[in-house]
Amino acid sequence: MSAETQERPASNVDPAELAKFGSLAHQWWDPESDMFGPLHRMNPLRLAHIERLVGGLAGKRALDVGCGGGILAESMAHQGAKVTGIDLAEKSLKVAMLHRMESGVDVEYRLVSAEDAAAAEPGSYDVVTCMEMLEHVPDPASTVRACATLAKPGGWVVFSTINRNAKSFFFAIVGAEYVLRLLPRGTHEYAKFVTPSELAAHCRAAGLTPGDITGLAYNPLTKSFSLGGDAGVNYFLAARRP
Ligand code: SAH
Repeated sequence: MSAETQERPASNVDPAELAKFGSLAHQWWDPESDMFGPLHRMNPLRLAHIERLVGGLAGKRALDVGCGGGILAESMAHQGAKVTGIDLAEKSLKVAMLHRMESGVDVEYRLVSAEDAAAAEPGSYDVVTCMEMLEHVPDPASTVRACATLAKPGGWVVFSTINRNAKSFFFAIVGAEYVLRLLPRGTHEYAKFVTPSELAAHCRAAGLTPGDITGLAYNPLTKSFSLGGDAGVNYFLAARRP
């Protein structure tokens, strides 16, 4: 990776979004940081959810799209998956590589877009994960298509993102960024949120069969997340390549 560029030209990317994550990259592994603390707190739940969906990660090839500092990627490797993490924020990938040395896990990191990875290695992964990224890209349907192409026939693609409705506006933006200050202001943009039906439609258009939708609720009193049926704000959608 060249040191002078933080991101490289790719079409389905918002450079301001990459800069936002890159500028905070040193905080990726700080579980108390505003930006990434919530990802650390939700990670055990989403890891268990993915394991349940795919029937265990051990021995599977997994690709984490928009891996950031590698929070999910490392945890999937700990479960025995052979993991590759891709992102377009170079600073975040550097942090991921440094942390990999510390934890001694075997994760491969690459600076490549989902679309370019899909063109290079279609049908290669048992599990493709794309967490908390669709709401930061200009064209989420293109990312979904790339994830679908990267999955093996019979493989799984698991997304997480934020729903778009009055409740998610109040909880994910007003509540999280202004009242509870769980996230820095400006982390999320309401118009970019994706409803489960839009995401399911993108999946079907990409040849995937959308299935399980599971909500991820935040309890401000216990400061903890829980999995459940309420997909009103944060949610996971799992799809399978036939
Ligand atoms: N998936 C990780 C990180 C979520 S933060 C996790 O849940 O723990 C969103 C990530 O998406 C950041 O690392 C950001 O750099 C990345 N990202 C944003 N737009 C992207 C794009 N177009 N291509 C690849 N990664 C992107």
